[in-house]
Amino acid sequence: MKLEVKNVCFAYDSLPIIKDLSISISQGEFVSLIGPSGSGKSTLFYLIGGLMKPAQGDIAWKGQSIVGQRGNFAYMPQQPSLFPWRTVTENISLPGELQHRKIAAEQVQIYLKKAGLTDAGNRYPHELSGGMQQRVAFLRTLASGQDWLLLDEPFGALDALTRTHMQKWLHTLLKQEQRTILFITHSIEEALLLSDRIYVLTDRPMQVYKEITVPFSQTSRFSLRGSKKWETLRKQLEDWLLPDTAFMN
Ligand code: ADP
Ligand code: MG
Repeated sequence: MKLEVKNVCFAYDSLPIIKDLSISISQGEFVSLIGPSGSGKSTLFYLIGGLMKPAQGDIAWKGQSIVGQRGNFAYMPQQPSLFPWRTVTENISLPGELQHRKIAAEQVQIYLKKAGLTDAGNRYPHELSGGMQQRVAFLRTLASGQDWLLLDEPFGALDALTRTHMQKWLHTLLKQEQRTILFITHSIEEALLLSDRIYVLTDRPMQVYKEITVPFSQTSRFSLRGSKKWETLRKQLEDWLLPDTAFMN
């Protein structure tokens, strides 16, 4: 089972954003998209999520075109969009409510515990730090019950320590729960730690520049960070992303 973006082109009015872009992701994979800010990554998620339609090309899931179709994927937007009048628990339960499927209070409690938010269930978003809000938005995405997730820079607003903690947490969680994840990040380290494959994207109009399979096993990634092999690959990705810096050496 696959999600396939095939030769997609997209423009906002006359501004070309995505040009002949093709990517694919198979069930169970963790694939990262890494590219310059403003290149069109979030826009690609709007197309995959059916919020907008490509001008050309096709998006297929499980062998069928899903252009313009919503509701196939759990989606976490770049901005944590929590409902201010709902408590943390009520925010996390929302996807279930929308699908007329009640998420058990115990299940929410388990998720909160996993994200280090055990005591935050009855608090309102404005009572939380930005990092905590982002974790709640993340839990809400997980609680949607969808196996395929589109995560748009989910850890972007977190401080470095919390970010590392969340990366480890997600890594551990994925060993327990089978999910398929398409993940936007601007962090090379994060992409290397979490992904099976990485697409390096160009600036606008966005295309695939390079694609790599991460040569580290699921179990060894965190311990390999900083090793020679790791650094070589990190540097390679950095050069692909920031070609201009080659002139500065
Ligand atoms: P990224 O997620 O890679 O940072 P975006 O997909 O958010 O990039 O945006 C790509 C480009 O499209 C940016 O230049 C942005 O200003 C522009 N853009 C985003 N949304 C709209 C819109 N609704 N109308 C016109 N231009 C937009
Ligand atoms: Mg974006």
